Amino acid sequence: MSRVIIIGAGGVGNVVAKKCAQNDRVFSEVLIATRTVSKADKIVAEIKEHLPQSQTKFSTASVDADNVPALVELFNRFKPELVINVALPYQDLTIMDACLETGVHYLDTANYEPLDVAKFEYSWQWAYRERFEKAGLMALLGCGFDPGATNVFTAHHAKHHFKEIHYLDIVDCNNGNHGKAFATNFNPEINIREITANGRYYENGEWVETAPLEISQDIYYPKVQTRKSFVLYHEELESLVLNFPTIKRARFWMTFGESYIKHLSVLEGIGMTSIVPIDFRGQKIAPIEFLKAVLPAPESLAENYTGQTCIGVQAKGIGHDGQEKVHFVYNVCDHAATYREVQAQGVSYTTGVPAMIGAALMLQGVWNKVGVHNVEEFDPDPFIAEMNKWGLPVDELAGIELVRD
Ligand code: NDP
Repeated sequence: MSRVIIIGAGGVGNVVAKKCAQNDRVFSEVLIATRTVSKADKIVAEIKEHLPQSQTKFSTASVDADNVPALVELFNRFKPELVINVALPYQDLTIMDACLETGVHYLDTANYEPLDVAKFEYSWQWAYRERFEKAGLMALLGCGFDPGATNVFTAHHAKHHFKEIHYLDIVDCNNGNHGKAFATNFNPEINIREITANGRYYENGEWVETAPLEISQDIYYPKVQTRKSFVLYHEELESLVLNFPTIKRARFWMTFGESYIKHLSVLEGIGMTSIVPIDFRGQKIAPIEFLKAVLPAPESLAENYTGQTCIGVQAKGIGHDGQEKVHFVYNVCDHAATYREVQAQGVSYTTGVPAMIGAALMLQGVWNKVGVHNVEEFDPDPFIAEMNKWGLPVDELAGIELVRD
C-alpha cells in the first residue's frame, strides 16, 4: 500500500495513472501533479468512469516542475514514497533535487535534456549517484519502453541466452495509422529533437556519428510487417554498452514513413524545427515550440489509431553452449486495443505500462538498490512477468537474423 505522485498528465501520464488504478493492491493513493491541472482532472474523471471498481484514491494538483521549492512544498504536503516523473526531460533534475530534499524515491522515462541544446546523455543524472546513495534513496532512470523494456530485454538476453553479447540491435516499429497528414506520437518537441539530431551508434569502443537518417535497411517485424528502418541515436545505448562490456556494436533502429520524412524535411528546411528562439512580435519563441502548438496533441491521435507497434532487441553472440547464436525478444502492441483499455494510443501505452511496473517493483522492494540506476542493472525476470500480466506480452524468436550487419 503506497503513496505515489505522478508528475505530468500528457499521453504517458494518462496511461501510468490508469495502470496504477488497475494495480490498486500496490498503489493506494496517487496524486497527479502537472502544469495544467484540468488535464489531470480529466484523467481522474475517466478513471472513475472506466475503472469504478478501483480502490486507488486519486487527487490532483497544479505544480511547476521547473521550480524546486514548489515541488518540495508539494512533496512535503502529500508525503509520497515515490515520484513517477512523466513530465518532460527538462524537469528531471529539478524533480531529482526535490526528491533528495524530501526523502522520496524517483523514477523517470527519459534522460535529462537542457532546453537550449539537444543532447541525449545520462551524465547529468549519473552525477546524482552519490547524493542518492547518501540519502538512502533510489532513482530508476529510463523506465519506459525504449529506454526501459529494451534494457530489460537486453538483461534477459544476458541472463538466459548469452554468455557474451557481441552485437545488439534495438528495433522500434510503429506500423500504426492515425489518419493525420503529420503528427508525432509523443511530445512533438522531444520527438523532433531526437529525429533531426545526428545518428550515432557504438562500434569497437567508439561512437560512430552519421547524418540524420543516413543508414537504413528493411527489417521484418514479427506479426507486423517489413518496414524501412533508420539508425538513430537512442539514450539506452549509452548505459547498455557500459553495463554489458562484451558488446562490440550497438545500434538503434526506428521506422519512419515516407510522408513523415517529407513533412519533417520541409519543416526543417524552413527552420520550423529549430530550438533557437527568435523574436516574434516582441516575444522570444523557439520555432519548435510554436510547431508543437500547431500539431495535434499526441493524446488526441488515440481515438482513431489503428495498427500495431513492434519493439524488440536482437542480440548476436556466444550462447551458454559456446556456439554462435542470434535471438530476438519483443512485444507487439495494438493501438485500437490500448484505446479501448485506457483511451490512449500504443506509443503512450508502451511507455506508461513499464513506468507503472518499475514503480510497483520499487515499492514492493523487488527492485531495491540505493543510488541512481538504469533498468538493466536489475533482475529482468520479475519485470517481464509483470509485462505479461499488465498488457505488454513478451515474445521471443530464436535463430532468425532480422537485422543484418
Ligand atoms: P506530453 O507532452 O504529452 O505530456 C507532458 C506532460 O508534462 C504534460 O502534462 C505537461 O503539462 C507536463 N509538463 C511539462 N512541463 C511541465 C512543468 N514544468 N511542470 C509541470 N508539468 C509539466 O508528453 P508525453 O506524455 O508524450 O511524454 C512524457 C515523457 O515520456 C517525456 O519525457 C517523454 O520523453 C517520455 N517518453 C519516453 C518514452 C520511452 O519509451 N522511454 C517514449 C515516449 C515518451 P501541460 O499539459 O501543461 O503542457
